[in-house]
Amino acid sequence: MTIQADQETIIVEAFINGQNVKSLSQVAKENPTNPTEIVGYFPVTTKEQAVEAIEAAAGAFKTWKQTSIDERITMMRKAIEKIRAAENEIVHLLSREHGKPLYDAHGEIYVSLMWMEFACNEAKSALQEEIKEHENGKTILSYDPIGVVAAISPWNYPIALSTIKIAPALLAGNTIVLKPSPYAPLAAAKVAEIIASEFPAGVINVVHGDADVGVELTSNPLVTKIAFTGGTATAKHIIKAASETIKDMTLELGGNDAAIFLESFDVHDERAMRRIVISNFLTAGQICMIAKRVYVHRSIYDEFVEKYIEAANRWIRIGDPFDSNTTVGPVNNLKQKNVVLGLVEDAQKRGAEVIPLGQILDQKLFEQGYYLQPTLVLGCDVHDPIVVEEQFGPTVPILPFDNEEQVIHLHNESIYGLTSSVWGKEEDAISVARQLEAGTTMINTAAVQGLDVRFPFGGVKQSGIGREYGVEGIRTYTEKHVINVPKTLDLPYIPE
Ligand code: NAD
Repeated sequence: MTIQADQETIIVEAFINGQNVKSLSQVAKENPTNPTEIVGYFPVTTKEQAVEAIEAAAGAFKTWKQTSIDERITMMRKAIEKIRAAENEIVHLLSREHGKPLYDAHGEIYVSLMWMEFACNEAKSALQEEIKEHENGKTILSYDPIGVVAAISPWNYPIALSTIKIAPALLAGNTIVLKPSPYAPLAAAKVAEIIASEFPAGVINVVHGDADVGVELTSNPLVTKIAFTGGTATAKHIIKAASETIKDMTLELGGNDAAIFLESFDVHDERAMRRIVISNFLTAGQICMIAKRVYVHRSIYDEFVEKYIEAANRWIRIGDPFDSNTTVGPVNNLKQKNVVLGLVEDAQKRGAEVIPLGQILDQKLFEQGYYLQPTLVLGCDVHDPIVVEEQFGPTVPILPFDNEEQVIHLHNESIYGLTSSVWGKEEDAISVARQLEAGTTMINTAAVQGLDVRFPFGGVKQSGIGREYGVEGIRTYTEKHVINVPKTLDLPYIPE
């Protein structure tokens, strides 16, 4: 990574075996608040370079796996300190290339570092081999590294969703090839290079591009684990690509997370109303675990909608990510803006009412960038696309329900099951939560506000396979290796 003389344009190269590798072609990454401004350039890694990166990781694995856990933790802690020291620079770059407001970019670094610290604190006990003496002899259970990890991350939380993979993978003794998303490659590459500076050459490699490079990473026989975060449709391609060589996989995929407001929810609780608004519109709604459909008990529905609009108009201020008044920035890219617009227009055509939310702080900027005014969509049918599909942007439908059985059914009939939330009296909410099919269910909070990196996170059904975060998020980068030592050579049920 180099910063050009004008300190403005960032140039990223592939990082293979401890070195930047020059590429023949570069792609411009625009600023979503002003698409004519180029934030930086990243390369399209060739197939040959991707293979080189995988081979570098495979070569480094031979010695890296022999290092002690203490050595790895020491290196990772130094990397954490370096990221912390560079936080402001990283946050500015992330905000410029992504469009998320500065406070939100800081939040991403905060969660990333919290997780990396947790992984360092827990790695030793999580990976400690267990020895059990029993009536048949002795069993040793060890947590061995898997090998070369292909880590593929999306654009919405490019740093958090890269470090969520890098930290545990390396602590567990694996080597890695990271491919960030072409929609937000710069800050993730910068953080990966900072981490790499503390590790031996080849332990972390970074390549760039989209599906072409992704296919090499997910099909190459030297890759033994895929850690992927992204869309469910992409995951289906990945599963096919990996099937030839049967790779270990963690897949964190799309969601259509429901927020359920029970009759016992207090619509006059302004802090709770603010929380649900934030849980719908943080990062302009571009979060896997954002509340994407809201169901409200019919007895409180009208008042809820009124209070929701008030709370949303107070909190949502759409503007320049570098303006400290801004709470919501642009959508990251034109493709996603059009997906969201398409769903809102479709809902309107089907007869829904679309209510714009919040204030636009800078009309000129709003018109120039990939901005979308957040919207509330009322009067939808429960099976309209805006309700059943993942919109991944600043719009949310609110629908009434009549009884718990009905809303539990609506929740569970989704093909997704990442997170959900239930709001109301605690015991009523927990009782409904127990009946929901999801990886995480939050009570009286939702989305990132209810995330706890100490516990496993992941989806059920088409929202994913496996878990990240928590102790499980470290062990997922290991093979459980059992070594049995029998006490006697007698074979009790086999004839002599
Ligand atoms: P995406 O699936 O389009 O891309 C994700 C990554 O996969 C990118 O790096 C992309 O270049 C790469 N890719 C694309 N085609 C590939 C292929 N054929 N083989 C290998 N790699 C390929 O997703 P996105 O648009 O970047 O992210 C948005 C999606 O990610 C949403 O569905 C969101 O819900 C999901 N997401 C899930 C979580 C979670 O933890 N469950 C977190 C964040 C985002």
